[in-house]
Amino acid sequence: MQEEALTAKQIEVRDRVLDPGGERPIFDPGLAEELRGELETHLAPIAASLEPKDQLFVNKQKLKDAQTCEGLLYSRIHDLFVINSAIARGTLAHRSVQRLIGSDYQLTPLDAVHGLFGDLVEDPGGDSTGEFVQAMGVGARAELCSEVADMVIKFAMDWPRLKRAWNPRVESRIAASFGGGVIRMSGKVDLAIGNERHGAAGVFIADLKTGFERHDNLYDVRFYALLETLRSSVPPFRIAVYYLDSGQCDWLDVTEDLLRSEVRRVLDGIEVFHRVRNQRKDQLVRNPNGLCPYCSLIDDCEPGQASVALRETEA
Ligand code: SF4
Repeated sequence: MQEEALTAKQIEVRDRVLDPGGERPIFDPGLAEELRGELETHLAPIAASLEPKDQLFVNKQKLKDAQTCEGLLYSRIHDLFVINSAIARGTLAHRSVQRLIGSDYQLTPLDAVHGLFGDLVEDPGGDSTGEFVQAMGVGARAELCSEVADMVIKFAMDWPRLKRAWNPRVESRIAASFGGGVIRMSGKVDLAIGNERHGAAGVFIADLKTGFERHDNLYDVRFYALLETLRSSVPPFRIAVYYLDSGQCDWLDVTEDLLRSEVRRVLDGIEVFHRVRNQRKDQLVRNPNGLCPYCSLIDDCEPGQASVALRETEA
């Protein structure tokens, strides 16, 4: 079969980021068990304080919120986060990429996006993003659809076609449980490619983002690297965050040190999560940040309001 002609960007992503056929590290075969043991040991007191019905569900967002602002975390824990176009856009773009790759590129990017919107309008299936799309007016929905299409087309233009032999997974769920199942960590990986090769690391994990580059986005994929290590006993060889607007890719090669420092970050985050979950709103430490405009506590948060006002005068 004739090889597809690649764009310059596709060649760059293939050769510099995916690096098919490149050298892969071999990790200590006992590393995953060791990391799991460390997590189990340090989480034991929290797990012992939880009733089975009080399960602690940990994901990348809660860990990041725990590092950012207790109010933001509280808002997420108590499900006060309101879905908006910016949040829906990312979710819909990932699901469209899933259709694109799932169809083995038989669908064009536009087909994938329009098909998804059409299906959600017809039947949201109890999905909050689907219900948001269904409730939109025709004009607003068309605008959102074209924004999502823009993201998916950029992905298709920047990334080489993911070959079947690479075992591409989109929106792939990974999880780990601790304390007999009362603490659960989970994630949905935007894109995972490859598999372990004869004991050597072989999985590549990427998050696809819109908006400006933020260094803390790398924490999301570090968390995925830890989950993948616990799940499959072999760490991924590389993790990346790809920014669809700028075409910039930030990536890290996975090392033992990276995984050990992620264990510590996760433990710190869970400790904050456990505490904030049982805290009153007036006890929360408020730490203004770039997400204040989207935080449901903004109406009664003076530091958050001051920060938003300052950003608006500086804009
Ligand atoms: S508005 Fe900002 S500072 Fe206030 S709780 Fe929310 S994220 Fe924190």
